[in-house]
Amino acid sequence: MKILMVSSEAVPWAKTGGLADMVSALSISLAKLGHDVRIVIPRYYSIDRDKLKMLPQAMGTPMGQGIEEWSAVYTTNMPGTAKKSPVKVYFIDHEIFFGRDGIYGNSAEPDFVDNSRRFTFFCKAAFQLCKKIDWYPDVLHVHDWPAAVAPVYLKFAERPLGSKSNFNKTVSILTIHNLGYQGIYHKDNFDYTGLGWDVFYNAGFEDWNMLNMLKAGLYSSDKLNTVSPSYAEETKTQGNGFRLDGVLRYRNADYSGILNGIDTNVWNPSKDKLIPQTYSTKDMTGKAIAKKALQKEFGLPQNPGIPVIGMVTRLTDQKGIGDLFGPTYGSLWSICKDMKLQFVLLGSGESWCENEIYSLSSNLDNFRAKIGYSERMSHLIEAGSDFFLMPSLYEPCGLNQMYSLVYGTLPIVRNTGGLADTVENFNQDKGAGTGFMFDYPSPSSIYDTVGWAVWAWYNRREYIEKMRQRGMKMDFSWEKSALKYIELYEETLRTKL
Ligand code: ADP
Repeated sequence: MKILMVSSEAVPWAKTGGLADMVSALSISLAKLGHDVRIVIPRYYSIDRDKLKMLPQAMGTPMGQGIEEWSAVYTTNMPGTAKKSPVKVYFIDHEIFFGRDGIYGNSAEPDFVDNSRRFTFFCKAAFQLCKKIDWYPDVLHVHDWPAAVAPVYLKFAERPLGSKSNFNKTVSILTIHNLGYQGIYHKDNFDYTGLGWDVFYNAGFEDWNMLNMLKAGLYSSDKLNTVSPSYAEETKTQGNGFRLDGVLRYRNADYSGILNGIDTNVWNPSKDKLIPQTYSTKDMTGKAIAKKALQKEFGLPQNPGIPVIGMVTRLTDQKGIGDLFGPTYGSLWSICKDMKLQFVLLGSGESWCENEIYSLSSNLDNFRAKIGYSERMSHLIEAGSDFFLMPSLYEPCGLNQMYSLVYGTLPIVRNTGGLADTVENFNQDKGAGTGFMFDYPSPSSIYDTVGWAVWAWYNRREYIEKMRQRGMKMDFSWEKSALKYIELYEETLRTKL
């Protein structure tokens, strides 16, 4: 199959979250299975053009209001893919839209005022790119709101041309990575799409008199999916649907969940170059060494007998920080005061939370935190901790709990989305399970569940060791998930053409 991934992020070039990892890892796995996979992303200012090859001649993209947007197109092969069958990556280089710091915004302007135009143009440019390189995909696989207008163009601009369109055999799949971000802008932006105003309503752009880019994609794609089966179910409910649950119920027959994989070359305790010593189920010495190194790095007493709870997270509401760092009884303050444990955190995000963390770490002697982003430290926390806390309010898939499982670090998670699909709750009678879970999001639930894990550490150590072994043997490889995407592509091609 010929597959075109349209995405605003892809590692190693542009990343704000799990989306960037998923797009590249899935593409690499699909290419290994013999498919012709290409990715198109914007060429952001931070992407060095000198490392890319420029395609000859500038590309014109006709937009609405009689505007022709001119861009250069750069290309390179995805690192780690075979020379003979590489994943080709194309970069749309439009100086005015993408020649600035930031992917969606920056500290002065968190959501760029022209984001609707930037990403509408990007979606249309994906079609122009195919025409330019004379390569037409069987599957147009788009990701999140920045790419969601591409299926609209397929359905409302290309398909009506019938056999005159080179895309008449192309089907579209939209993957939701996080329903919380939808790309909602003033409807005056619609003229720029170049589509008739009937499409504003028929394609589902209309949202309380605003323009909703994700919603249009949800209506217009042939199939939809999200990154875990449980999140697919949850998003169809009012509580987790971010006002689009009705649309997802309407598309129910075409909507499914496929769990993301993890990069087992990078996140693998038996190969990890970022930890002091590798380890495996057969020899866990490296884990004990990592724990010691972690305690040292964070300035905590190097005591193997005390449980270390780790956390690596974006500090945003979604991750449950309101319950953990709020001023309520049961929050992190009480956890650290009441329990015999050590707590380490790496994260960055909302400033109220960063400030709270600074204040907690100077007032608690068993809580240490680093504000910032560090790949090395995140590996050390995964390897050196005994437990890993993720009290997310919602979690489309979540990667850290999977990293934790394969590193023998028991996840303490809320029973939601991808966390529910990957962690099995501890059964203290039988010793079954791989982690500790709670249902209701509240400070006291987090407090109780961390307390339960700490209790098991001191009173059921043999179970802890068995749970570790169970987690480390789990298979979260991308190969498994890629096969499920192929099934989805094939089914879409079968039923939609
Ligand atoms: P989300 O995409 O919602 O942030 P995921 O768990 O799916 O959550 O993916 C987050 C990824 O970003 C993980 O690989 C995690 O380790 C990484 N990450 C988040 N914050 C940091 C940080 N401060 N330092 C290093 N890695 C981080």
